[in-house]
Amino acid sequence: MRKKINKLLIGTNNKGKFREIKALLPDKIKTFSTSDFNLKSPRENGKTFLENSFIKSRYFSKKTGLICLADDSGLEIDFLEKRPGIFSARWGGKTSNFKKAIKKVYKELDKKNKNWRKKKIKARFICALTISYYEKKIASVSGKIEGTISPIPKGRNGFGYDPIFIPKNKKKTFGELLPSKKYKIDHRYKAFKKIKRFF
Ligand code: IMP
Repeated sequence: MRKKINKLLIGTNNKGKFREIKALLPDKIKTFSTSDFNLKSPRENGKTFLENSFIKSRYFSKKTGLICLADDSGLEIDFLEKRPGIFSARWGGKTSNFKKAIKKVYKELDKKNKNWRKKKIKARFICALTISYYEKKIASVSGKIEGTISPIPKGRNGFGYDPIFIPKNKKKTFGELLPSKKYKIDHRYKAFKKIKRFF
């Protein structure tokens, strides 16, 4: 049987993601964060979520000598030809301001059609997770959750685009759902299920 990972760097500088990934991992694993090592994030020059999650994972592992689990994720909006996609964090500007990113989504939707609020705007969150040790990719998986864009932001929970995303078959946005509920249905959870055997 494969040896279980018992010491892991969670390779993200995003506090919301860190909280979620920490909650998904078994308590017995000793985890480290990028702030324990004062690390900045690398430049994400991949073309896909999977490529970018490997770029981050490999970078942080090489910097710390630890096995690293990194996440690259984002929101795809069909009406915007799948934007912001891999640029989801960058829509928040240099400081990753989530309010700014949400404003940009609404602005881009308005540009397409002033009456977009009367339509069902399909969207999905995608999450790619890669575990690596230095250059070696141990596992790379992805997960997604379908939903729609809320006409107004709702709720104060979560992070990023949570206040404007309504998961399929639910009435509330991710921002309104309790974190413990969101963690059990979202894109990160679905991706994590595919690598949980490593822990
Ligand atoms: P990156 O993977 O660090 O490049 O950034 C992903 C960006 O996508 C985040 O900064 C958020 O804006 C957005 N995002 C990813 N996952 C979630 C989520 O679970 N909720 C809300 N926004 C998310």
